[in-house]
Parts: sequence; C-alpha cells; structure tokens
Amino acid sequence: MKNEPVTAKEEDRSSRVMNFGEVVLGFSETEALAEASRCIQCKDPKCVNGCPVGIDIKEFISRLSKKDYDGAYLTIRHKNNFPSICGRVCPAEYQCRKLCVFTKKGEPFASEKAINIHFLERFIGDHGAAKGIELKAAEASDLAGHKVAVVGSGPAGLCAAGELARRGVKVVVFEGLHTTGGVLRYGIPPFRLPRNILDGEIDSLKKLGVEIRTNFIVGRARTIDELFAEGYSAIFLGLGAGIPSFMNIPGENLCNVYSANEFLTRVNLMSAHKFPEYHTPVNIGKHIIVIGGGNTAMDAARVAIRLQNMNGIKPDTTISYRRTEVEMPARRLEIEHAKEEGVKFELLTKPEEFIGGERGFVMRMRASRCELGEPDASGRRKPVVIPSSAFEADCDLAIIAIGLGANTILTGVTPGIKIDKYGDVIVDPETMETSIKGVYAGGDIVGGEGTVIEAMGMAKKASLAILDRLRHLSTGF
Ligand code: FAD
Ligand code: SF4
Repeated sequence: MKNEPVTAKEEDRSSRVMNFGEVVLGFSETEALAEASRCIQCKDPKCVNGCPVGIDIKEFISRLSKKDYDGAYLTIRHKNNFPSICGRVCPAEYQCRKLCVFTKKGEPFASEKAINIHFLERFIGDHGAAKGIELKAAEASDLAGHKVAVVGSGPAGLCAAGELARRGVKVVVFEGLHTTGGVLRYGIPPFRLPRNILDGEIDSLKKLGVEIRTNFIVGRARTIDELFAEGYSAIFLGLGAGIPSFMNIPGENLCNVYSANEFLTRVNLMSAHKFPEYHTPVNIGKHIIVIGGGNTAMDAARVAIRLQNMNGIKPDTTISYRRTEVEMPARRLEIEHAKEEGVKFELLTKPEEFIGGERGFVMRMRASRCELGEPDASGRRKPVVIPSSAFEADCDLAIIAIGLGANTILTGVTPGIKIDKYGDVIVDPETMETSIKGVYAGGDIVGGEGTVIEAMGMAKKASLAILDRLRHLSTGF
C-alpha cells in the first residue's frame, strides 16, 4: 500500500532468547530505498531539530534515494561520527522521528508512519563501514601543536575526541576501565549493539589519530592540574553517570539483589554467563524481578530471560514499574522486544521490601499496588500507593534499575570544580566549560542520565568551544 512504512526484519523470537545475537537485522537495499522513497523532502525539515547533533537528514535521505550511498555516508559523518551505533540505539521516536511531518502534534512519541530515519542511518552507516570510507584529519592544521585530554571513552568522550581529531588536534582519551565504550560496552547488550559495530566505529577514531589509554583513572593516576602541567591545552570530561541508585527499602542488601549496572557489567563486560570459562560468575534466579521502566531495566530483563532460557530454567522474568507503560522512559522497540521475548510486566507496582531466607538470600518481594495521581516535577503522573494493596511475589534474583548518578572520583579531588546537589558538573550551557578554565564537560555527567546522541550533542558543543580556545591560545585572538 502507498506510503506504508517499511520496518526492519528481526531475528525469530523463539531462537533469539537462546543467544546474544543481534535482534534487529536492519534494512536490505530494497527496503532502504522503499523507506527513503516515503520521505517527502519537506522544504523546512523539522526532523533535523530533533537530532541533537543536527544531521542533515533530508540531504542524506535524498542521496540514499539516488543510490549515492557514499555521499549519504559522508553527509551523516559530517555531523555524527557513529552512524552505525546511533542507527541502532537512538530513541529516534522521541527525537528526530517525533518531529517528522508524519507524526501528529501532541503525540507522546513518533507515529508509526514517521520515516524510519534510524534504520536508514544504520543502513548507510553499515555501508560506509563495510566499504571502509574514512574521514581524513585536517592536514597541517593551525591547531596541530595542541593536545587535548579527554576523560572517559563513552559516547561523549569519543565524540569529543573525533570532533577534535578531525580538525588536526592531537587527542588522548583516558579511560578508567580496561576497555572503551562506556555504557555502549558494559551496559547495552550485544543483541542490541554488536561488539564488532562498536569496535569498528571506535577504530575509525584511532585511524583519525586518537590515542586511547585504558586502565587510567583521572583523579587517581593523574589530577586535572597534572594533566595541564603535562602540556594539555584543554580537558574534556565525559565521566558518565556510573553510580546506581537504590530504593532504600528493607532487604535491599540481601544476596542476589543486584544493581542493573553490576548485573549487566558482569555479563556484557566480564562474560559471566560463560563462567567458569570466564572468572566472573553471575547468579541466575528462577523468579527474576527487575525494578524500573527505562532502557536499563529492559536490557537487564532481556539479558536475564536469555540466561534463564540458555540454562534450561523455565523463564520467569518480570519488570516491576510504578507507573504505566506510557510513562516508561525506555525505547518503545525495547518494550515490545521484551514482551515478545516473554518478559512479564507488573505495572503500577511499588516494591516495599525484599524478604530473605536463613542464608541471607532474597526469596520474595513485598510490593503495593499504585494508581496514577497528579503530574510531578518531571511532568509524568505520580504513582500513589493504594492503601492495603500489599502483595508478595516469589523473587530469588532482584535487579534494581531505577537510575544512575554521578561518581565523584574525579570531581571529589578537583578543587574549584562546581557540582550540583546530585554531583553533576555545572557548565556554561553555551560552551560546556566548567568552573575551571579550559576544562569542559558533557554527557551524563552534566544533567544526569540522558541518551547516547544527547551526550554526543553536548560533546560536540564543547569541542567547538575547545577549538575556539586553542585558536585563541595560538593566535591571541
Ligand atoms: P558513559 O557511557 O557512562 O561513559 C563514561 C566513561 O567514562 C566510562 O567508560 C567510565 O569508565 C569513564 N570514566 C568515568 N570516570 C572516569 C575517570 N575519572 N577517569 C577515566 N575514565 C572515567 N541511550 C540511548 O540513546 N539509547 C539506548 O538504547 C540506551 N540504552 C541504555 C542502556 C543502559 C543499560 C544504560 C545504563 C544506558 C542506556 N542509554 C541509552 C543511555 C546512554 O548509554 C548514556 O546516556 C550515554 O552512554 C552517556 O554517555 P557518556 O559518555 O556521558 O557516559
Ligand atoms: Fe535521529 Fe539519532 Fe540519527 Fe539524529 S542520530 S538523525 S536523533 S536517529
């Protein structure tokens, strides 16, 4: 039918829960061309305003339609270093697609009719990667004498590194973990973001000359002052939000109550599901409850149900969330996929207590039913507990995914850096400069948990300000 959206094919739902292979298979060339042909090339394309890095969406889709795939790739790369990653993980339904002309005003997220910009971006990103199209760093740049330190190798740090390296600036990325990518590697599971895609896009930065030093915690191995003393002209902080929040309810310290961060890190980073082949173990329960409604909760639940299936345990994984599905901050696709894979949803539920057995392991969860009240500060309707509605559910593994906050390893030892009551770094919103001259910040460490592309948008803004600083240091103007 005319103007029917084309969606990407997916791995069969019964087999995908038995492995960590990619679920969404992406567009074939025919599908990409069909979907691109639906774009009406608006005179004033609003979708661009919904993209935090301002990709020229109209132009790349136009080039794609003409089968100028290399041109489409370069159009995207001009603004976004990581098209294959963003095409897979961007919550486009709240961003570019929400402003597509096919989404009606006032809809909470993009209409199904909105152009599948993310799938088209993924198609083009994968084309560029397969063909080995590389951007070149500016030669003999007037900024070549400068070096910039980037702290953290999540999307914010990597984006800042790429933006600066492209202009001929020497960039060194310092990463505290033994490997790169931040949440892209330790949080988002490979069935959403295959590691070869992540590695490929990080390699493209190395080809631009970016140097990466892992196992290097700034704040421990070096301070900010020491980095300046070593000759760095500017420093970008992309520290992320790595500290999990808890509900502070009784029993939360029982064995087998994990934070989602720990659970996902054990599996994604330390391959705990392959224990004892790998050294780190992970407990897999018979009755798993994941608390939360964001991407982290969906990822934890989808990993958990895979582990149950892969280990011959009858799958019983439940998401417990205080509000309704409409208020869930997770990507719509992740919610659908979780349901398809057998994850149960217990909505309007507030955990009150974890109940343990003699050996100190969690056995049950006591919770209350809620209804929605007036909107709170976030604009979402507040969950209100219904009196005398408490119930108990079996639970031998609980995973808490209710949010993440700033870690203060670096800010705690950096005199003069201003942080807010949450520990987030305060910046000038125009330049992303912190209260210390020459030190910039972006991503989740500024304003708390956001999205990959929002982190990159901030890093981009900071990079432009850093380039201004370097020019000023070079010329005095
Ligand atoms: P991070 O990705 O957290 O990276 C920070 C890096 O800095 C880490 O590698 C850390 O080790 C390093 N670091 C910290 N302090 C130091 C130090 N002192 N010295 C050296 N290194 C340091 N967003 C989406 O858009 N789509 C999704 O589908 C999505 N899914 C998500 C799933 C999960 C499980 C989680 C947790 C988040 C998800 N998000 C998603 C949010 C998104 O991943 C984050 O907004 C984004 O990663 C933030 O990027 P960042 O670079 O600021 O921080
Ligand atoms: Fe949309 Fe994300 Fe691509 Fe920007 S990067 S065009 S927001 S899918």
